[in-house]
Amino acid sequence: MAAVIIDGKTVAEKIRARIKAEVAKLKSKPGLAAILVGENPASKVYVDIKRKTCDEVGIYSELYKLPDSTTEKELLQLIGKLNENKKIHAILVQMPLPKHISEEKILAAIALEKDVDGFSPENIGKLVSGKEASVPCTPKGVIRLLEEYKIEILGKNAVVIGRSNIVGKPVALMLLNRDATVTVCHSKTTDLAKHTRNADILVVAAGKPKLVTADMVKEGAVVIDVGINRVDGKLVGDVDFETVSRKAGYITPVPKGVGPMTVAMLIENTLDLFRKNPSRQLSTGPSRNSDLGVNQKTEN
Ligand code: NAP
Repeated sequence: MAAVIIDGKTVAEKIRARIKAEVAKLKSKPGLAAILVGENPASKVYVDIKRKTCDEVGIYSELYKLPDSTTEKELLQLIGKLNENKKIHAILVQMPLPKHISEEKILAAIALEKDVDGFSPENIGKLVSGKEASVPCTPKGVIRLLEEYKIEILGKNAVVIGRSNIVGKPVALMLLNRDATVTVCHSKTTDLAKHTRNADILVVAAGKPKLVTADMVKEGAVVIDVGINRVDGKLVGDVDFETVSRKAGYITPVPKGVGPMTVAMLIENTLDLFRKNPSRQLSTGPSRNSDLGVNQKTEN
């Protein structure tokens, strides 16, 4: 039987509409600053989508597009200023950063109360100890899709392919926090299929097109494809959708699956941070554009 398609696009639209209505009732706007360093084309697309979504739901946003030559010190200085900026409640640094900048140092410099992506050491610590606070947006989007489709996590065998800090590890921890029995696979895993065939819930975040084929999936399993790959000009995930969708019970498509949820979770986290920090709720003035020297900055 064909799998139920988990429609991330529609779920994300509903979340955006709810946030828009909530923001409209506020006396001042939540503010998000997004920082992009370098010329990574995919990162540019993601940051533009995030900014457009802020506009759509009424969240104030500032976008800093910095050249590849930006030094770690300059980036730390910018984060220091944004930490103090009362119009900004959430700071996002788009990963990956150029090699000469330490991601660890940058993430640790973001004020805890503005850590919208949940990558600071404190927020990761909370996630590990089962006391989730600000959690990374893509893993949060994965869990929200399972919740929206009333898919039970407790007691299930969950297999995660991928162990990156931004997707694989946090999603594995979130599943564990919800009482799944979790297996994490990676590029050194021997006999990947042996693990995946045991999965009631399979989350794939490897960045490898068609890594997961029907023979690797248990009949009726829930398959969440986080992967985004460009093949012959088309966006595809890590799962062979054609064949796996005939065997799985539920499956996310690519695009229109996890992708839109990541952005929806980002604006939800921004609103949450705004609500948690009332002292920073200043009314925002009209939009303006300014040039900060090293920074190319645009505001909405
Ligand atoms: P990443 O940092 O490159 O990590 C990939 C992970 O997959 C690594 O842990 C790697 O293992 C593992 N892996 C690679 N090839 C494998 C194989 N053949 N078998 C088993 N494991 C394998 O990537 P990421 O940042 O986590 O992103 C993963 C994918 O999700 C990418 O396609 C990315 O574009 C996409 N993504 C989507 C969203 C969204 O909103 N939908 C958000 C973020 C990322 P090792 O650790 O051993 O190298």
